[in-house]
Amino acid sequence: MHSGFVGERCSHDMATCPKCGEYLAADHRCWGVRRQLQALGYTVGGGLAGFAAAFVVSDRPSEPLLFVTAILGAVLTLAVRRYARF
Ligand SMILES: [Zn+2]
Repeated sequence: MHSGFVGERCSHDMATCPKCGEYLAADHRCWGVRRQLQALGYTVGGGLAGFAAAFVVSDRPSEPLLFVTAILGAVLTLAVRRYARF
C-alpha cells in the first residue's frame, strides 16, 4: 500500500457509513449533510467555471453559449468528482 491509511490497523471493524461513505471508525463524526453541501458547492463552482470559460472562448458569448458552458462545467465537475471520489 502506498500510504499508512490502509494499514493493519484498519483490518477490522471498517464498515463504511451509509450516509457519508466514510469509514465507521470509533470517532466517526457523520458529515453526510456537509458532504451534500460540499457537492452543491462544487457543482456551483463548476458552473461558474464553465460560465467564465465562455468568456475566455468568446469575447461576447451569447446567452445559449453561456447556458451550455455553465451546465457543461457543472456536469463535468460532478463527473470528475464522482470518478475521483474526493
Ligand atoms: Zn457518516
